[in-house]
Amino acid sequence: MNIILLGPPGAGKGTQARLLEERFGMIQLSTGDMLRAAVKRGEPIGQEAKAIMESGKLVPDELMIRMIAARIAEPDCAKGFILDGFPRTVPQAEALDAMLAASGKKLDAVIELEVDDAALIERVVGRFTCAKCGAGYHEKFKPLKQAGACDACGGKEFVFRPDDNPETMKARLKAFADQTAPILPFYRQKGLLKTVDGMASMDHVQAALVSILQ
Ligand code: ADP
Ligand code: ADP
Ligand code: ZN
Repeated sequence: MNIILLGPPGAGKGTQARLLEERFGMIQLSTGDMLRAAVKRGEPIGQEAKAIMESGKLVPDELMIRMIAARIAEPDCAKGFILDGFPRTVPQAEALDAMLAASGKKLDAVIELEVDDAALIERVVGRFTCAKCGAGYHEKFKPLKQAGACDACGGKEFVFRPDDNPETMKARLKAFADQTAPILPFYRQKGLLKTVDGMASMDHVQAALVSILQ
């Protein structure tokens, strides 16, 4: 099964993708995580993307398309993938169609997570991840079970993203409305689009996704 999770920053794409990964054995492909890894390793792609990401704008299509085409061609993606954060523009969606067709793959569903802007800001401002294993948390909505230690791996270092602040969120929400929302009709026309209420609890959202995918 190959699916896309679509939604504004903070909608819960990463949280849900990780749960689906555990349940169905597909692979989460997060372009945001790939870019942050490239920044951390000091790769040329990371150097090009860093300032753009910090401003809340989108990284150029051509770079993103190259990145995801290479990743989807890797053997582990044969068991199915969950795209999280890609496509984000109409040209990216069109390029994805072409690369899937060329490799004999297809999309099974495109699932949109709908969340109010006020809730999105609260979600990203309180978001942090474990530096060691990448597990995601929220100060209010998913706190650590034991203060200072990751539930999953016991790691003691945590990362807050520089772009997860109210000012940058304005630009990110605008990029979503202007550049990403126009891909919804593209997938609706193909009969692939499903919409889920992302305001519900993490468990309820997961249950809604599972019932769509089963
Ligand atoms: P995205 O990948 O779409 O940007 P995340 O999955 O990282 O979003 O979620 C953003 C933040 O909101 C995280 O800190 C996460 O723990 C929290 N979160 C995710 N889903 C929910 C939910 N349904 N209710 C409340 N908080 C949530
Ligand atoms: P979120 O989880 O909050 O939706 P991401 O981690 O997916 O955010 O993305 C962080 C930043 O990385 C974006 O604001 C953008 O600058 C860049 N980015 C990630 N994916 C793409 C993409 N497909 N196209 C363009 N820019 C992207
Ligand atoms: Zn951890």
